[in-house]
Parts: sequence; C-alpha cells; structure tokens
Amino acid sequence: MPLLKVENISAGYDGERVIHALSFHVNRGEIISLLGPSGCGKTTALRAIAGFEPIIEGQITIDQKPVSTPTSTVPPEHRSIGMVFQDYALFPHLTVADNIAFGLRRKSAVDRRVQVDHLLDATGLGGMGQRFPHELSGGQQQRVALARALAPRPTMLLMDEPFSNLDVELRERLSVEVRDLLKSEGISGILVTHDQHEAFAVSDKIGVMRDGTILQWDTPFNLYHEPNHRFVADFIGQGRFIPGVVRTPETFDTELGPLHGNRSCTQSVGNQVEILVRPDDIVPDTDGDIVATVRDKAFKGAETLYTLELPTGTRLLSLFPSHHDHHLGDSVRVRVDAEHLICFPRGESPCNSSTESNQ
Ligand code: ADP
Ligand code: MG
Repeated sequence: MPLLKVENISAGYDGERVIHALSFHVNRGEIISLLGPSGCGKTTALRAIAGFEPIIEGQITIDQKPVSTPTSTVPPEHRSIGMVFQDYALFPHLTVADNIAFGLRRKSAVDRRVQVDHLLDATGLGGMGQRFPHELSGGQQQRVALARALAPRPTMLLMDEPFSNLDVELRERLSVEVRDLLKSEGISGILVTHDQHEAFAVSDKIGVMRDGTILQWDTPFNLYHEPNHRFVADFIGQGRFIPGVVRTPETFDTELGPLHGNRSCTQSVGNQVEILVRPDDIVPDTDGDIVATVRDKAFKGAETLYTLELPTGTRLLSLFPSHHDHHLGDSVRVRVDAEHLICFPRGESPCNSSTESNQ
C-alpha cells in the first residue's frame, strides 16, 4: 500500500485551477520529486499535500486515510509530515538545539535531548547546538531546518526548493546527504524543484510538471532516455531536435544521413518527425562524414560542450574530450553514435520551454 496517494486532484486560488488532474503515489521510504519550471504549480501541489490548501477535485490519502477531499481538509499538524522551505525559516532568537527541539515540547527533557543530539550528529552539526542561526553558514542553517523538520519523526518530509539559496557545490552535496539521511531514517520524501540535477540526485521517481499537471512520472534514467513528451525531452538534459522522416519504425532519413535506433518510433512510416539528439550522440571523428562549424563552446573540465552548425543551419550539441580544442568558426568532423533515438511529431511545440530548462 502506498504511503501517499494523490488521486486526480485539482487546486487553485480564487476559483481558478492552477493544478489539475494531478495523480501519483509515494511508497513508504521512497523519495520523489516534482520537477518543472517556475509557475507550473509545484508549490501549490506540495501545499495541498501538506494540508495548507484545500482541493477542488480528487482525493489525497495518507496511510489509507483520506486527508484531503473537496469537502474536508485535515490540518497540517495532523498529517505526520515535516516541511523544509527555501528560506530555512529558523527562529533567530533560539539556539540550534532549541530550534531542533521546537516540535518536541510534549516529550520529556531526556527524550528531547537524545533526539536533538542524534539529529545534530546525523546532519553534521555535532558541537553546534549552542550556536545561534546567524552564527552559521547558509548550508548549516539549512541542515538545522532539516533536523527541525525531522525531529518529531514525521512519516514524510516535504521540501520546497530547499537548496535554491545555496551555491551549486553545496547544493549537490546536501542533496545527497538529505537522500542518505531520509533513507537511513526510513522517512519518505517529496522534493519540489526546478533544478533537474537536484531532482536526479535525490529521487527514486520524478514527476515532470507543466501547466499544473504531470506530463511524465518516471525514473530519472527513463526521463532522460525515454522522454514521452517533447517538453520533457527539452526540459531534461541537453539536446537538440533535428527534422527527419520515418523510413522504417527504427530508421529516420535526416540531413545527417539515415539514423538507426533500437526503439520503435510510434509515428507512421513517411511521417515528418523531430528526433532528439543528445550531446553524447554526436562524437568527434576525423573520418566522420558530417562536417560542421563550431558556433559556441563551453568548457566543462573533462569535456567541452560544442554547439555545431550543419550546412543547412541546423545546430547540434556535442561533447568532445577537452583536449580536442577548437575555435569558433573551425570546421570539425563528427559522426552519430546513438543507441536509441526518440522522435516526436514535427511542429509539436515544446511550449513553456522556459529559460530554466538548462539548455
Ligand atoms: P511553482 O511552485 O511551480 O513556481 P506555484 O504553485 O507557486 O508554482 O504557482 C502556480 C500558479 O499559481 C502561478 O501562476 C502563481 O502565480 C499562482 N499562485 C501561486 N500562489 C498563489 C496565491 N497565493 N494566490 C493566487 N495565485 C497564486
Ligand atoms: Mg514554488
């Protein structure tokens, strides 16, 4: 039995739905993310699950108990959930230990002390219990917020963009730490984020959202390799779409020549399609048949991401080992090395493929 079931819910403000037909479930001990561009309804969905927003349609069940229906909303404090926000929201006048102990007022002093000490250690804050929030770095403050949310031993932790105020390196480290901590404490988690790297680092499953609903609910691996929607293909990872025509279910005619994949295209033979080409599908090869011009380059350490332009003007991304150093305007030879190819009907708009799509 899933711990949380979100069934076909809609919710919104002033009679206007901002999430609709939203369905997914979370098993005990599982961590999931809702991932999507700003404004797609992630926070509203999380607030509905927490019990801060009523729902208009559908049902939310925690541990087989309906907690939200269109006619009733169990308040947040009776849902056995913890919440962590982007801005930490610590009590500035309380010490770290007192912040963490805040939700434990009904426990005995000894139980409180044991639980606070455990969480200080578990979140890497050992020895900092007597400090005040302003004496901590942003990353340490977010750890305190996490420890405070976990202290009452919720069955589920809800996190709304918890790492967005932190620098990239710390964000990645904390994402992994949070995952390990939740897994070791046996607590389920829901992370809401617009950052796919964060979602990938933390989640067992991810729901990619657009315009208030989930377009694809899947593992990080499948979202990258088997996007079922053009928006998902665009939003997750990097890549470009090239025009083609379906010749057989596995082969496309394109300006790169015939491309052969190991997945059957759902489009009919003869249809015009767009094929997703990821940077790792285009490899440098001095004997390659494809000649392209370097239009942009981004050094990434071990690799360089080149934007290449074909004679027709179509642009592709390609990862070269970084010792292959080319200049803008250089001609380079490449070949296609793609195992499976994903196609979408041509002309289907990716819509909302916002600036946050990491392209
Ligand atoms: P996200 O968290 O994905 O950025 P939100 O759930 O915050 O998205 O917002 C979804 C939509 O609902 C947006 O169009 C936003 O402007 C609107 N919205 C969010 N909160 C409120 C509110 N309190 N009152 C009215 N509209 C809101
Ligand atoms: Mg939000």
